[in-house]
Amino acid sequence: MRKILIVGSGQSGLQLALSLQEHGYDVTVMSARTPDEIRAAWVTSTQCMFADALAIERAHGLNLWDDVAPRVAGQGLSMAGPDGERALNWIASWDGGPAQSIDQRVKMATWLELFEERGGNVVIHGVTTADLNGLAKLYDLVVVAAGKGELVQLFDRDASRSPYTVPQRKLSVSYVHGQEARPERPGTTDVWMNFIPGVGELINIPGYTLSGPCDIFFVAGLPGGPFDAFADRPPAAEQLRRHLELFRQYIPWEYERAKNAELTDGKAVLVGGYPPVVRHPVGELPSGAFVLGMADVVVANDPITGQGSNNAAKCAESYLGSILENEDRPFDRTWMQATFDRYWEHAQWVTKFTNAMLQPPPPHVQQILGAAQSNPKVAKRFVNGFNNPTDFQHWLFDPAKAEEFLASV
Ligand SMILES: Cc1cc2nc3c(=O)[nH]c(=O)nc-3n(C[C@H](O)[C@H](O)[C@H](O)COP(=O)(O)OP(=O)(O)OC[C@H]3O[C@@H](n4cnc5c(N)ncnc54)[C@H](O)[C@@H]3O)c2cc1C
Repeated sequence: MRKILIVGSGQSGLQLALSLQEHGYDVTVMSARTPDEIRAAWVTSTQCMFADALAIERAHGLNLWDDVAPRVAGQGLSMAGPDGERALNWIASWDGGPAQSIDQRVKMATWLELFEERGGNVVIHGVTTADLNGLAKLYDLVVVAAGKGELVQLFDRDASRSPYTVPQRKLSVSYVHGQEARPERPGTTDVWMNFIPGVGELINIPGYTLSGPCDIFFVAGLPGGPFDAFADRPPAAEQLRRHLELFRQYIPWEYERAKNAELTDGKAVLVGGYPPVVRHPVGELPSGAFVLGMADVVVANDPITGQGSNNAAKCAESYLGSILENEDRPFDRTWMQATFDRYWEHAQWVTKFTNAMLQPPPPHVQQILGAAQSNPKVAKRFVNGFNNPTDFQHWLFDPAKAEEFLASV
């Protein structure tokens, strides 16, 4: 039986571990934290996942929250005008089915327990490069799924695929109960992206946390602007107060719904920001052994387009396919590079889309966002691209293709 070590118990590491377990592999997961420690920690993400990624989880029986989590039917977009009005305001639903956001504290703690209950080996240990150096010879394959932690240093930055060297957004998140329904969409549950030109974004995401259904405020601020107001890492209650004050000033329609909201728990906030980066997928240890990077370790996009967990699920599924197809051949350097290249066929479009969304929209994209206001076919195609960003290569990235598409609808 082939022995595989996975370092990191996040979306990609645990999904790969649980799916390899289905196929009879001897899998060990090294996790920096126990399930109880994960539940008791600060929130880590907003983790909105779309239909294709959720379908992968369902195929492996990992969809444990379908009956309790909000079914997020559609995605809305508002653009703030100069006087606090909405210059754009439209909504479309996803063709493939609803999205879902399960607090990673809930999901990862439960998946880690499930993996262990099913006979998987769990070692609670914050792994160092020196540890890996000794461990690698005991396994046929070592996969590093440690997110943006220090082990990324094993993998060199790929400058040709990484246009940014500093964070493009300053991020702050609050999980709340008590937000009121969207008045123009009673009885529905949607993700809503609010763009404030020159300031940043508020993405409002219905989620499911330790205490049940909730709403998540995901604020992305342009560095140095008014939404970049959390560098002092204020106490959680103060962070929510500042969020609400920013909504009142810049997004009054969201403030009206949010003004009575309360934090879901004392650790329901996050402050951060990081430069988007693509890394070379094969790390070499001092012993000469090779390890394979997965998901955020090798492709970390800014979260503005909500793609990281989706990518992590797709990366783990792609790597699973490559591992199964390799049968009993060695997991050598050539195989590792080919395994990443297969995933990059998808991830390159996600990266291109996300990096583009960090810049002010060029004229042809402004035209598309404006056309979506009156043409539901345009709105639908844009929104469906969040589920499958590979579609954007055919119409969004290129002004001529965009014009052709707009003329056809
Ligand atoms: C503010 C914010 C909002 C986001 N919103 C969304 C969204 O709406 N939709 C979306 O799809 N994505 C979103 N993301 C991105 C998403 O959270 C990540 O891309 C995704 O979790 C990456 O999965 P992963 O498996 O690569 O790593 P992670 O989920 O980060 O898991 C890595 C794991 O490795 C562990 N670890 C780290 N170092 C070590 C070590 N040395 N030894 C042992 N264990 C270690 C960590 O503790 C962690 O458990 C968001 C991210 C942020 C920061």
